[in-house]
Parts: sequence; C-alpha cells; structure tokens
Amino acid sequence: MQAILDEIAKTIAASPERGQVASYIPQLARVDPAKFGIAVVLADGSCCSAGDAGEAFSIQSISKVFTFTMALERLGDAIWERVGREPSGDPFNSIVQLEHERGKPRNPFINAGAIAVADAVMQTCQPHQAVGEILQFVRLLADDGNIGLDAKVARSEKQSGDRNASLAHFIASFGNLQHPAPAVLDTYFDHCSIAMSCAQLARAGRYLATAGMIESGATRVISEQQARRINSLMLMCGHYDGSGEFAYRVGLPGKSGVGGGILAIAPSKASIAVWSPGLDKIGNSKLGTQALEMLVARTGWSIFGH
Ligand code: GLN
Repeated sequence: MQAILDEIAKTIAASPERGQVASYIPQLARVDPAKFGIAVVLADGSCCSAGDAGEAFSIQSISKVFTFTMALERLGDAIWERVGREPSGDPFNSIVQLEHERGKPRNPFINAGAIAVADAVMQTCQPHQAVGEILQFVRLLADDGNIGLDAKVARSEKQSGDRNASLAHFIASFGNLQHPAPAVLDTYFDHCSIAMSCAQLARAGRYLATAGMIESGATRVISEQQARRINSLMLMCGHYDGSGEFAYRVGLPGKSGVGGGILAIAPSKASIAVWSPGLDKIGNSKLGTQALEMLVARTGWSIFGH
C-alpha cells in the first residue's frame, strides 16, 4: 500500500493541470494548489499515507457526512421528513428545486440539505453548542482531540454567504427549519470550516468501511444498516452533479468538499482521504479524483468489481 501511495503522490506532484482553487470563499483562494495528500486507513485500523497527508485543510462539505450521521443516529427515519435521498443533478448551491419541492431539499449533501440537517442536529438555538457537539463527534470518530475549526475560513464564508443565507431563509419559509435561519447558518458555516488532515479524515471515516463500528469493533457509531445507507447516499449524491462521473471513474462512495478534499469508502476494506485544492468546473477536486482513480485501479476496490 505504501508503494502505491508513494507512486500516486509522485504522479500527482508532476501534474501541470491542477484545476482552480475555490475563490467564492476568499480564504480558500489563498491555499497553495501544489498541495497533495493521501491517506488510507484499512479496516484493521492500520494507516498508510503520502504527500501532505499530515497537513490540515478545510474539509468543507465533507463535514456533511458527519452531521448527517449524527442526524440519522438521533432522529432515525424521521430525518426523511426534512430531507430527501435522491441525487439532485444540480450544482451544490442550487436553489431551483427547493421551490418545486416545497422547501424539502433533495438530499443531505447539497447545501440546502445540509442546512436542514444542521437544523436537525441543533438541540437548542445556540450554534456554539451544536458546533461543539459536532466537533466532539468528529474527534471521537478520528480518535484525535486536536481537531478544530479554522476561524478565518468560517468568518470568510459568513461574510460571503449570501447564497447559503438565501437557501436557509427559503427553507424556513416552507416551515422546514425549527431554529432561526441565522443560527442554523452559523452552525452550518462553522461545521464546514472544520480543518483536518488526510490522516485524520481517513481515520474519521473508518466507521463507514467497518459497518458502523470504530476501535476494532469496540464502539458502535451507527447501525450496520445506517452505515450502508450513508454509503449509498455518498455514491449517489456525494459529488453533486458530478456524482455519476465519480461513480463511473472511481466506483466508490465518496464525498467532496470545495477545500479540495474527498473522503472515499471501500466498504469492508478501507477509508481513504485525498486532498488537492484545485477543483474541476463542478467544484470537486480535480487531481483528488484522479488519485482515487489510480488507487482503485491498483487495488481493485471499486464496488462494481475488479
Ligand atoms: N461551505 C461551502 C458552501 O456552503 C461548502 C460547499 C462545498 O464544499 N461544496 O458553499
């Protein structure tokens, strides 16, 4: 595995076409597009990594996997009254379907859906409390108390968050938020600003590769059925209107973020995190996808066969 990751890191480092770093969140535009990290945590807990796998980056929408896991664990099937589970075929920040579908977002991984999920995990109107609980959950998953928010990224996104504010207020107008939109937005922006390294992220995703368990079968995070369902949602919706392309090229459940990270799950085998800040036109990591394509070709891990 180490030899495979070293080879991938070498190939990606030499790639001249790196995509465009996200610029609509000004703080993300400052990230060096030459960065690349990859980490693989196998089902037995062992870890291999290469490149900048120890450097923290903004996980952005990958955090939606963790908030959705909390919501599913707490609310069970009642979460499906708040959000759907079909791919949207639209960009991550699109508002068009929300009007037709009366404020019920198509799935939990587009921004609208993640805003409804943030509302669902809030137990009070206090964003700080909700964000504290989300962080605690992510630290537990990663077995790492050092994970935190990037306050500069959170501030930057709040200052340029008109589109997300529109989504939140529009959802609220249909009665699908239980807390005030500004408090829900604060929770959402803060959890998107969680900073993690590939090594931490791959470790945090391990429960999805091991049927809902962590610490080698000692702690259950969610049920086996719920883990399977989150993986299916990641496959169908985790890359927005690029989900079909990702399934075609990589063939693993995956969740991307505009920070250039991707968390991918090879069920029963491994949790994988990659990071390359340059994005394709849809907003998914260009070279991160390529790295996963190479990894799957070498390991035969595609869920669709060798
Ligand atoms: N925080 C970002 C936003 O709401 C997340 C988007 C993403 O990672 N695709 O715009």
